[in-house]
Amino acid sequence: MVKVPKINAIVDGFKYNSQLVCPNYIFFLTHMHSDHYNGLTPTWNRGPIYCSSETAKLVKDLYPQVQGITSLELDVKHWITLDKNTNEGVNVTFIDANHCIGAVMILFQGDKCGNILYTGDFRFIPSMLNHESLLDSSGQIINIDHLFLDNTFSDPEFIFPPQDICMQMVFNAIEENPESDVWIKNECFGKEKLYVELAEKFKTLIVICPKMYRRICLLNLSPEKFTTNENEGYIRIVNTEQMRGLNERNKNQISTIGIWLTGWMKHLVKHSENGVTTYKIPYSGHSNSEELKTFTRAIKAKNTTFTSSCARKSKGNSEIVEETYSRKSDVYIPPTTPEILPKRRIQNPYSSHLKKTKKPKVLGSKIQ
Ligand SMILES: [Zn+2]
Repeated sequence: MVKVPKINAIVDGFKYNSQLVCPNYIFFLTHMHSDHYNGLTPTWNRGPIYCSSETAKLVKDLYPQVQGITSLELDVKHWITLDKNTNEGVNVTFIDANHCIGAVMILFQGDKCGNILYTGDFRFIPSMLNHESLLDSSGQIINIDHLFLDNTFSDPEFIFPPQDICMQMVFNAIEENPESDVWIKNECFGKEKLYVELAEKFKTLIVICPKMYRRICLLNLSPEKFTTNENEGYIRIVNTEQMRGLNERNKNQISTIGIWLTGWMKHLVKHSENGVTTYKIPYSGHSNSEELKTFTRAIKAKNTTFTSSCARKSKGNSEIVEETYSRKSDVYIPPTTPEILPKRRIQNPYSSHLKKTKKPKVLGSKIQ
């Protein structure tokens, strides 16, 4: 939950007591995971909600009575009025967050707030840095005054592979056990792309629960690849409770492997015990620590706020801030002549970080 600095807008916060502060807040929902729409109720009437078209469909399906949901097209700058009396407003651009269907990053641009980028939950891919809205007329990344960053896996120990490699790990696990059924533990919406790949590669329908099937039909995510009838496919998506029955199922002579998909596993772990084989595969919709560093180095935000409560004390947070500010010093230290560099360094508010980077050496070599 974040109150956008200097304007009356809130992102992923529906418990925020706006009436205490200002009665005219507007709300944004980055994606339809429960930890982000927490607080939204069937009788919500505290302000308009802006989100992607997919998220809007999911909200309306969950709470048909909720009023004031507006979907915004991605990749387009939208002017949103904040105060009808003064015509104050803010430009808003949604960028695909590569997290789950309908998930967006939000770029706010306004006279009061400057340029604010809110990533929501996101899985970094390099093409994000080429997004038109993030580039100026010379192709450089625009100044970002404040970055709100999904730092779930900022700890340096989380360097799990890209999704396509993890997808191959899932393929391999299934191919290693050609006679077995497959149970994949997942309770979150968001891995449908993987399931469609599995259906096509292994020529089977994917068995899912009625709630997930309803959402897949609603968003038209290849519903023909899915079924709710467990007799119609041998790859099944199960929840925690169902996964507890894996041992019993194998004891009953129905050979079944178990697969867990989560970045918290860090790397592939295969385990066999009492005739039951399980795989823990780090397929994640969040960025790993190296991807976060690549992203923040490129964005060079003036200020960074971490949004993941579970990673509030992550060792990686300070590294990200340090690298961001160190790189930012490139802007403040023009490589003109060697003589003025020491003086400029002293004036730079982030000068203490210069000692920890190799950048001054690079500047020196350029000057020579
Ligand atoms: Zn999420």
